[in-house]
Amino acid sequence: YSAVAYDTALSTLLAVAVYVLVKVSVDGIRQWRARISVLIVGSGPVGLTAALVAVRTGKVLKLTVLDERYRTALICRPQQIALDSRSVKFLLGLGVDFDNMEGCWHNEHFFTRIGVFQEYLLSILEQTKQKVEVKVQLGTKFTEYYLRHIPRNEWPDVIVVADGSCGDSCSVLGINSDYVMESCHAYGANATIERLDQRQVPTPEIRAHSLYFDLSAYGVEALREQRNPTAKPGFHLKIYGTFRNRYMALVCPTSDSKMVRFLRHTANSSIMKTIFHQSFNACKTDIEPRLSDMTCHHMQCSRRLFEIQLSHRRISAAYIEGDNVAVIVEGEAARVLNFDTCGVNLGIRGLESLGSFIYRTATAVDQNDILKALSEKMQHSRQLEETFRQTGLAETMYQ
Ligand SMILES: Cc1cc2nc3c(=O)[nH]c(=O)nc-3n(C[C@H](O)[C@H](O)[C@H](O)COP(=O)(O)OP(=O)(O)OC[C@H]3O[C@@H](n4cnc5c(N)ncnc54)[C@H](O)[C@@H]3O)c2cc1C
Repeated sequence: YSAVAYDTALSTLLAVAVYVLVKVSVDGIRQWRARISVLIVGSGPVGLTAALVAVRTGKVLKLTVLDERYRTALICRPQQIALDSRSVKFLLGLGVDFDNMEGCWHNEHFFTRIGVFQEYLLSILEQTKQKVEVKVQLGTKFTEYYLRHIPRNEWPDVIVVADGSCGDSCSVLGINSDYVMESCHAYGANATIERLDQRQVPTPEIRAHSLYFDLSAYGVEALREQRNPTAKPGFHLKIYGTFRNRYMALVCPTSDSKMVRFLRHTANSSIMKTIFHQSFNACKTDIEPRLSDMTCHHMQCSRRLFEIQLSHRRISAAYIEGDNVAVIVEGEAARVLNFDTCGVNLGIRGLESLGSFIYRTATAVDQNDILKALSEKMQHSRQLEETFRQTGLAETMYQ
């Protein structure tokens, strides 16, 4: 009796072991072979970085990247971007070779024109065409018509919407357009100036801290406040962009000081202009010309201090049942700051979880797995927004 029991136990154990082994191997082979098709809407810096992430996962068989703009319009935007050290590290991991990109380094930040960055990413995508079927369709708008005309058997498994702050692709996909606006506990103002006689070369940003302005002519006695030890620290200024397209950002933590209250509510729009004018001339690099009263005339700036807010979509991921398409929203299409300083880095932070999301979607066994992956992606978005609201401005402006 015991010999029979022993034999039965042994053969059961063997059967279980064989089953586990076969299952693990079959799952392994399935996961290894799993490949999906990805569609990216928008070829801004975030959309193109997302395309690179998708290619590098090794789980994408077909990648389509769209932009409604043609190539020349896409890469001629004047603004410069500052990639912070974390974004640089992330991009290095994707194979971006900064030595081959026009730009300059300062304090572990890489400064380049937005168009240069996009052109570089487009060229890398061209090179990956042998391994993955990459289709870049510039001059093609993502619309309901476009969606309806994708043949059934060519529907993407994942759609990444990165169509910027003005895009409306989410509505085409039926994603709720509710935004949540949250305070970043700071007030700010922006200014831009274009000087066509100046060079369009990458230029490091300039930062200045603890600034106070003499507003005594308007009845605001700043100096007395400044000496008051309980008063909050002053303003932080950042001058950035190329010498031709200069941008300035002024920020201070929320406070109820006389100066802040005055600049928040003043009806006199020339005061902010004067502040930017004088701050620029005091902090600019030695090799660029001062702002004269004439050039200052062309400066566009905020009329008064406004509250800096981060708006983010309530829903940044969705699942189209029936068609089995997972949709995620990235970059400024997902979250946007009413203060032009650091959008690209915030967008790239969101892409840090894209690789694992694509991997999990490609290897998903059923719909449940995809829903779990989408839910984690949304959680990452929320976490990112919360962290930015707490420390984002400090990193980009206060330090
Ligand atoms: C004046 C200014 C200065 C700035 N300075 C800085 C800075 O110094 N540092 C920084 O990090 N950021 C800066 N930013 C912000 C930065 O430009 C944005 O954060 C960044 O461009 C956002 O990238 P994105 O890819 O999410 O969106 P976008 O760059 O807006 O790209 C979206 C793309 O989607 C395309 N698109 C839209 N709808 C469709 C559609 N239906 N079908 C197909 N394509 C579509 C658009 O044509 C566009 O090319 C600045 C912005 C401004 C305006």
